[in-house]
Amino acid sequence: PDPLLRPEARPEDSDRALRPETLDAFIGQAEARANLRVFLQSARQRGEAMDHALFHGPPGLGKTTLAQIVARELGVNFRMTSGPVLAKAGDLAAILTNLEKRDVLFIDEIHRLSPVVEEVLYPAMEDFELDLVIGEGPAARTVRIELQPFTLVGATTRLGLLTTPLRDRFGIPVRLQFYTVPELEEIVARGSRLMGIPADPEGIREIARRARGTPRIAGRLLRRVVDFALVEGDGRITRKVADHALTRMEVDAVGLDGADRRYLQLIADNYAGGPVGIETLSAALSESRDALEEVIEPYLLQQGLIQRTPRGRMLAQKAWSHLGLAPPRVPGQ
Ligand code: ADP
Repeated sequence: PDPLLRPEARPEDSDRALRPETLDAFIGQAEARANLRVFLQSARQRGEAMDHALFHGPPGLGKTTLAQIVARELGVNFRMTSGPVLAKAGDLAAILTNLEKRDVLFIDEIHRLSPVVEEVLYPAMEDFELDLVIGEGPAARTVRIELQPFTLVGATTRLGLLTTPLRDRFGIPVRLQFYTVPELEEIVARGSRLMGIPADPEGIREIARRARGTPRIAGRLLRRVVDFALVEGDGRITRKVADHALTRMEVDAVGLDGADRRYLQLIADNYAGGPVGIETLSAALSESRDALEEVIEPYLLQQGLIQRTPRGRMLAQKAWSHLGLAPPRVPGQ
């Protein structure tokens, strides 16, 4: 599969130009934004740290961006780390003791925190305290360190993998949804404006329709369409240039990429539409189970192309027609 099209974070995302910086400039996620606006204002009025927030949803939907906006709207520092990076309790302790009053600490992939690090996090989140063990053996003793009140923003693609005690300590759970086509049109139009590239509404719509409901993919497709517009077109984003570029990148008419289509095709060809277990799919596609569950399946489910049943994954009617195949006949019907 073409790694260009996967929604996981990649170095090019560090080009910050397209990142919205305020809650007003953030497009979509209306419900999450409306709620956050209230919590932000209340925290500001009280002059206290905002309650801890947990952002969950598939990659590329704006969890990191929203966390940065929270810090900016609170007028505090933004510190960022991730679950897998925090190997030892001391790693987290070092970050926590450096936080200033009301700062935002963002922990990406928080479902991948090690248990010892998680233990440190509980009293820090609850009472803004850190219990450190100093020394070893009989001479060991615990010292309690007071922390500045802070806001933890956790992000996860896998809510189900969070331990219950950790989950319970977040006062503000926020579920991010796939974006609608009109929302993605706004995002793409804004992006092309910021890049100074003229664009027809039909060109914008073509990119938006094929962005898999995901701003990160919309941004990436936009950059590639701009390349084609500059090199092979007249520097303008039109429907024709967009369609040509996206087809060359193997993004189909509804935005599915090569990996999505291989997933659907496998279930159709080898398992008569399913049900088939996730481990089987993972082995047959040489994709990790995590990648299937976090990246590929959420969009296919949301589009009604597959169903999850207790016995495994099944193709929905819509997937058969998308593949241009007839579903197998069920005997007796
Ligand atoms: P996540 O942390 O959920 O993986 P990010 O916050 O890193 O996603 O967002 C991915 C990319 O999409 C970023 O480049 C960001 O600028 C862009 N983006 C995300 N949400 C929006 C939005 N609502 N409006 C405009 N751009 C967005």
